[in-house]
Amino acid sequence: MFDADQKSFRDLLMEIGRERIRDKAARWDREHEFPWEIHELLSEQGLYGLMIPEEYGGLGRSVVDFAIMLEALGASTADGAVMGALETSSLGAQPILLAGDEEQKKRWLPEVASGEALCAFSITEADTGSDAGSITSTAVREGDTYRIRARKVFCTLGSVARYITVFAKTSKDSGVRGISAFVVDTRDAPGFSVGRVEQKMGLRGNPTVELNFDDVVVPVENRLGEEGTGFATAMQTLAKGRVAVSADSVGVMEFCMRYAAEYARDRKQFGRPLSDLQAIQFKLADMAIKHETARQATFHAARVLDDPASSRTEIGHATAIAKAYSTDVRMEVVSEAIQVLGGYGYMEDHPLERIFRDSKIYQIFEGTNEIQRVIIGREVARAGASR
Ligand SMILES: Cc1cc2nc3c(=O)[nH]c(=O)nc-3n(C[C@H](O)[C@H](O)[C@H](O)COP(=O)(O)OP(=O)(O)OC[C@H]3O[C@@H](n4cnc5c(N)ncnc54)[C@H](O)[C@@H]3O)c2cc1C
Repeated sequence: MFDADQKSFRDLLMEIGRERIRDKAARWDREHEFPWEIHELLSEQGLYGLMIPEEYGGLGRSVVDFAIMLEALGASTADGAVMGALETSSLGAQPILLAGDEEQKKRWLPEVASGEALCAFSITEADTGSDAGSITSTAVREGDTYRIRARKVFCTLGSVARYITVFAKTSKDSGVRGISAFVVDTRDAPGFSVGRVEQKMGLRGNPTVELNFDDVVVPVENRLGEEGTGFATAMQTLAKGRVAVSADSVGVMEFCMRYAAEYARDRKQFGRPLSDLQAIQFKLADMAIKHETARQATFHAARVLDDPASSRTEIGHATAIAKAYSTDVRMEVVSEAIQVLGGYGYMEDHPLERIFRDSKIYQIFEGTNEIQRVIIGREVARAGASR
């Protein structure tokens, strides 16, 4: 599946995960702590800038390589804090890559690639989640500036990011074609403030917050692309985000499967290891089937994204299938892994309890799995058996 370079990249990340991250995951979760202590290492390895081209300070690697990174970290750590930080900052920077001009890329991307600045992505509002095209935030042009008025919710890393890609309406009457994207530098944005910090079921090492933009004035040079192109940029960004959460899920499934298998070999009931019981072997077999199928779907979607000849429809279809499937079966796999451990799996002494709490959100963000089915179903209905 991978070439020699990709295999050694995967091995390196597995080693970093096992030796530098895995043992800290429970504490970051328990103390709701962003993984700053590992931030320098991630930065040194260039992981925040993996997909950013070399001319802007990144490693210039492919979506497949990005998926390899997340899969390896998932398999070696199952830690949502580090993967969430890498996924979210990359998501925040994607609109700059996709729609920014040369000057904007040179201005912001090197800081993001080096890890000096984190990025966040903010489209969701209290009344518009799945229906992101109906946001009501506004950005009104005043000469060479825009005045942004927005109340955003659920912005991951919103309280630690230097740059926030925010989506607002520059035209109220044009539907999704009235949405534009802006970069807000939080160090220099009077009127910007962080509101409520959400208390979450899982992913507690990544803050998710409300953001207030009360007449934040940004120069025209902070608008990404032409007015009205923001929604298309957001959707293209989320396609990459969907592969990220799929790859993360594939890795986490591998972690859970191994954990359950090792436990089943050690634990004896009725005088023999649990792993000798066919009931337990069948659970492990079902985990393996789901894991392998999700892995194929994820790397297929990553390759579709890397292929410049892929159409938007192909990208939408492949990434939606990978996201919906991988994150649905992730929930099943972690639940069955806990079942293999019996009562011990329910306790905080084992990582599966944390992974179970972390996993639920993957079916919800980057477009809920119902919305992925809307995308898939619409395309199947259109193309029928000719696909
Ligand atoms: C922890 C966390 C982190 C997040 N991080 C970010 C972030 O960094 N940036 C950001 O912008 N947003 C972020 N979000 C927002 C996230 O993307 C939204 O929560 C998600 O898109 C769903 O929107 P909603 O919660 O408003 O649910 P709703 O849209 O209200 O949906 C509720 C239910 O109805 C279903 N539903 C809605 N419409 C349809 C339909 N047409 N057909 C079928 N079913 C439908 C949904 O699938 C869901 O089951 C985050 C959310 C959470 C919880």
